Amino acid sequence: MRFATKAIHAGQKPDPTTGAVMTPIYQTSTYWQKSPGENQGYEYSRGTNPTRTALENCLAALENGKYGLAFSSGMGATDAVMKLLRPGDEVITGNDLYGGSYRMFTQLYAHYGIKFHFVDFTDPENIVPFINENTKQIWLETPSNPTLQVFDIEAVAKIAKAHQLLFTVDSTFASPYLQNPLNLGADIVMHSATKYLGGHSDVIMGALIMNDEKLYKDLFFIYNATGATPGPQDCFLVLRGIKTLQLRMRAHCDNTRTVAASLMYHPKIEKLYWPGLYENANYQVAKKQMRDFGGMISFTIKGASLEETMRVASAFKLFTLAESLGGVESLVNHPVTMTHASIPKAERDKAGVTDNLLRLSVGIEDIEDLLEDLKQALGVYKM
Ligand SMILES: *Cc1c(COP(=O)(O)O)cnc(C)c1O
Repeated sequence: MRFATKAIHAGQKPDPTTGAVMTPIYQTSTYWQKSPGENQGYEYSRGTNPTRTALENCLAALENGKYGLAFSSGMGATDAVMKLLRPGDEVITGNDLYGGSYRMFTQLYAHYGIKFHFVDFTDPENIVPFINENTKQIWLETPSNPTLQVFDIEAVAKIAKAHQLLFTVDSTFASPYLQNPLNLGADIVMHSATKYLGGHSDVIMGALIMNDEKLYKDLFFIYNATGATPGPQDCFLVLRGIKTLQLRMRAHCDNTRTVAASLMYHPKIEKLYWPGLYENANYQVAKKQMRDFGGMISFTIKGASLEETMRVASAFKLFTLAESLGGVESLVNHPVTMTHASIPKAERDKAGVTDNLLRLSVGIEDIEDLLEDLKQALGVYKM
């Protein structure tokens, strides 16, 4: 099956008892056992639930993986991978990371004796000097957030394999439509399904997809033992969202391409961050590993102070000023005061997350309306 067909059918067949075409919401915590231990594959919904199973199988198919696990949030999924570590272990990760991941690594796992190295993955060889006998994992986010850098998954996977390191890719910004890290050698793909997979800003969920059976069993143990698993309503919503993933992603990419063209030579724009920029160092990598350039774009406003940038962010009428991304509606975000506020200023500046940076999640509205709104919002700033 090809992508859109899998999105609609994988893991899902008509309900055997009623013939219902859509996977029912199995709103149940427990399951009948004919005799103790003799059940029909389900015992208790923290561990497994039929609506969730359908979603997990669909997610696995979309990433060309064998196993999928759905979590109650993206952070829940990330947390499960970190729980594979033991005190003294070390992790190499990017210096341009989702704020919540940075917070979890530095304010939670660092206290359990895990050491994190925040490294620039632009040249994958940069990570080699950080590898030692305690190194266990590589955690890479691509495209990154909010400066949309694209890192070479295949090259990092080669290094991970050579040193026997577990390699996870946070592929949230790409969605399974734009890239499939397992095909490029990653061990685990992580998604915040809250974003493009759900696609309608109405659910919080995370996912892990992998091929290795032992890894799946270890992660399933953590998932069931700690219980950050989603309820059936949420699984239904994501299963439903996924059915239009291909259509939505194409529209996101097309609208973003047009937004990029309108900002490229704009006199008030200092720096544009979008993987499809020809002169961009990431363009070649993006061409190689992604199907298109995605629905996210960031830019800095030339000479704008923190206050002036916040004024522009507040002036949007159609782009909603809000955290998050990947829904059908367009959003604008000021990373420094919103999504990346938990990262210290020195770290932020190093990663290009400056006071005058705005990030757009370009939705699938009519492009003319989006361009008009962008124009009027930038109009409130007088250079
Ligand atoms: C949102 C997000 C997360 C966290 O996911 P939640 O569903 O909010 O817990 C992790 N990584 C990236 C890149 C994200 O955008």
